[in-house]
Amino acid sequence: MADIIRLLPDHVANQIAAGEVVQRPASVVKELLENAIDAGSTEIKLIVKNGGKTLIQVVDNGTGMSETDVRLSFERHATSKIQKAEDLFNLSTKGFRGEALASIAAIAHVETMTKMAGQEVGVHLKIEGSKVVMQEVAVVPKGTSMLVKNLFFNIPARRNFLKSDQVEFRHITDEFHRVALAHPNIAFQFHNNGGELYNLPPADFKKRIVHIFGRKTADKLVPITEDTQVLKLGGYVVKPEFAKKSRGEQFFFANHRFIKSPYLHHAVLGAFDGLLRQGVHPGYFINLEVDPASIDINIHPTKTEVKFDDEHTLYAILKSAVKHSLGQFNIAPVLDFDADRNLDTPYDQQNKAAPFPRVEVDRAFNPFQEKAAPGNRPGAYQKAPTTGWEELYGGAGAKRSLPSVDQVSFETEVVNSSIFDGNAEAPQEQGTTFQLKKKYVVTTIKSGMVIINQSRAHQRVLYERFLGNMTLQGAVSQQLLFPLCLSFTPSEIKILIEIRESLTAVGFIFDDIQKETVEIKGVPVLVSESEVQMVMEQLIADFQMEIPGNSFSQGDMLAKTLAKALSVKTGETLDEASQTNLVNDLFACKEPALSPFNKAIYVTLTENDIERKFI
Ligand code: ADP
Ligand code: MG
Repeated sequence: MADIIRLLPDHVANQIAAGEVVQRPASVVKELLENAIDAGSTEIKLIVKNGGKTLIQVVDNGTGMSETDVRLSFERHATSKIQKAEDLFNLSTKGFRGEALASIAAIAHVETMTKMAGQEVGVHLKIEGSKVVMQEVAVVPKGTSMLVKNLFFNIPARRNFLKSDQVEFRHITDEFHRVALAHPNIAFQFHNNGGELYNLPPADFKKRIVHIFGRKTADKLVPITEDTQVLKLGGYVVKPEFAKKSRGEQFFFANHRFIKSPYLHHAVLGAFDGLLRQGVHPGYFINLEVDPASIDINIHPTKTEVKFDDEHTLYAILKSAVKHSLGQFNIAPVLDFDADRNLDTPYDQQNKAAPFPRVEVDRAFNPFQEKAAPGNRPGAYQKAPTTGWEELYGGAGAKRSLPSVDQVSFETEVVNSSIFDGNAEAPQEQGTTFQLKKKYVVTTIKSGMVIINQSRAHQRVLYERFLGNMTLQGAVSQQLLFPLCLSFTPSEIKILIEIRESLTAVGFIFDDIQKETVEIKGVPVLVSESEVQMVMEQLIADFQMEIPGNSFSQGDMLAKTLAKALSVKTGETLDEASQTNLVNDLFACKEPALSPFNKAIYVTLTENDIERKFI
């Protein structure tokens, strides 16, 4: 048989290797930022266009490169950072493999301008798909500018594999946050599609967090510190009451390198045990300083997982340190000597009169109703007082008297019985509902009984209401007497701006969207003022990964998110009127069987089914 093994041509080998280092625009951003840091820069500027697909540029004021070095830097395994294998065990730089620039140059158009301190002139170099296409002398400032255009231009399959600009931008922002947080002493700027997103001056760790995540963050942080032989621990955790719906603000840094560690994350979770509301995630910004020799750094460049020598000890120290800080702040205000007084309320403002209290009027209240049904607002299913309800099912001597039909008033549309006549799934008698396990509402129908998942049912009702509102000309919104001012991070604000039109369509009225704050003047009728913050957080968490392109699917996603955020949840007790209303509202829906997330809302149990069980 003929020999079949061949050596791959260089350019193919390079492209394959590149795929390992560069998965998406954010990988390029990471490598370029890290190179700028390794070059001792004090100011670094990141410029991005179209989610990094058309342009990524990093400009630094670091050491720069000589004419020979800049040519070498694009060769595979060319690095100035290690010389011998032992160096690997005492690394102080981010890079050391000498692979990044070679990989990037293999799959993009790269343009470099660089000059070393003390030199008159620098170098301007252009490389396309690993080939140098231009090199000339240039008058440039000290430092290096790396410009990467048309990523994956020669690998269409990879290019098509990239996600939307927003998603890629989101990954880049995450990477930027990580690097900027790991190096608070370096000034960073970030420009996206021509607009300045961040301009971060050199600062301490806390101020850097505040500059990135917004001024309000300052009051939410609790410092943690611990100094032991194996580990120096520092940083901040977010007070439990400010924990967010999105998982975004969780950062571990080991020796100024962002790391992911499910194991250490678990330690923090353990420390927060019992302090968090359901469905929220703790926020933390934790620096670990360990002996470089005790971490296994010989990991893949794109991986952020690390291996520590003594993980069990780290776990225990971390958990107890976080617990300690949380406990401390629970009993007494924490003395934070690093606190920036400029961020506090000025003294002359502190004693100013508070705004007038607001009076909320329930327009649906009808004094002539025997039992005030919670109005025509399906968001208002009343929670019954929790005491004593269990005894309703306590045994044979049930004291409960079923309300007769005329005792219950219906605010909602009467169920169109003709729809249900055939399959007999419409509730037959009113008032014969009860709640099971604070999760299901059970009601009778002609042919037997229906067991309804309360949360999913309410999601369906709200979802159809919100969709209905959107298609109406001018959604129904309620004006707030005093505009609400909410704070967000710049990247969260960016999301809000992008979905602003859809938000307005459901009834939100924005007065002013600024860099860190949003002023809300009106909210949809189904949303109460106290729910606004929670709803906005849920919206941002849901839209963070992908904002649908057209307004129709944006509206649909919005309606789903609002329905999810505002629906009654498992574990909530519903009073009788609310149970009845929920059942009526559900069966008045266009599609009562499925939740907006395509889950079954109810199951029916026919008389036959029941009888069969008794055979
Ligand atoms: P590594 O960072 O692993 O050494 P890279 O491919 O990222 O490998 O970079 C190759 C070399 O190019 C680096 O070792 C460094 O000497 C040089 N270099 C890259 N970027 C810069 C920069 N922004 N400023 C100065 N030198 C740089
Ligand atoms: Mg590098």
